[in-house]
Amino acid sequence: MAQEKNNVAENGAVELDRRGLLFVLSSPSGAGKSTLARKLLYSDPQISLSVSATTRPPRPGEVDGVDYHFVDTDTFKQMAKNGEFLEWAHVFGHRYGTPKAPVEEMLEQGKDVLFDIDWQGTQQLYQEAGNDVVRVFILPPSIAELEARLRGRGTDSDEVINERMSRAKAEIGHWDGYDYVLINDDIEACFTKIQHILAAERLSRSRQKGLIGFARKLVNG
Ligand code: 5GP
Repeated sequence: MAQEKNNVAENGAVELDRRGLLFVLSSPSGAGKSTLARKLLYSDPQISLSVSATTRPPRPGEVDGVDYHFVDTDTFKQMAKNGEFLEWAHVFGHRYGTPKAPVEEMLEQGKDVLFDIDWQGTQQLYQEAGNDVVRVFILPPSIAELEARLRGRGTDSDEVINERMSRAKAEIGHWDGYDYVLINDDIEACFTKIQHILAAERLSRSRQKGLIGFARKLVNG
């Protein structure tokens, strides 16, 4: 019976069959979310990124199908009409959405899925998938530090920086819609906390499908 299947890890530990989880990382831009997401994907083969579709044009270095699926507005609207998105939202004048099919495929393969989406998408995802969703919000250590990071990125004008700062503050205002809130004052320390959250959530009783059979065997032999 699939529900009672146990796996034995390389170190000999028993690993129970479990439900995949939907792991959301949100933050204002400049708080270090992209670096943290990259580190997680690189270090943990059990989790894969949900690649969003967007109508915003690619930035230099961004690759279609890797960073985003870049689509025009008509295509996006059609996808939304066809019910192809798990969630979608307007963010800063563009449309962004999470394609449903790849997420379902990853969950079926027993993988966890990482989402880099905003607070609106997080709310919708939570409505769809409830307890399968783990919501993590990353805060910058201070507004001054956030501004310094945004300025350090390149050659943006004061006007663009001010615009980004007010967007960042609006995003920060939604911190209380998340299960975990981390302050990123040290990227390595913050990353370790993310790994711990993921490890603990994977061990949650409700996610361990194999637990009932395993415990029954321990009790009844
Ligand atoms: P950027 O344009 O800087 O890549 O992303 C802008 C914002 O859109 C970020 O906060 C990012 O998390 C959010 N975002 C990216 N993809 C999605 C998505 O599929 N759905 C939603 N709701 N937000 C997204």
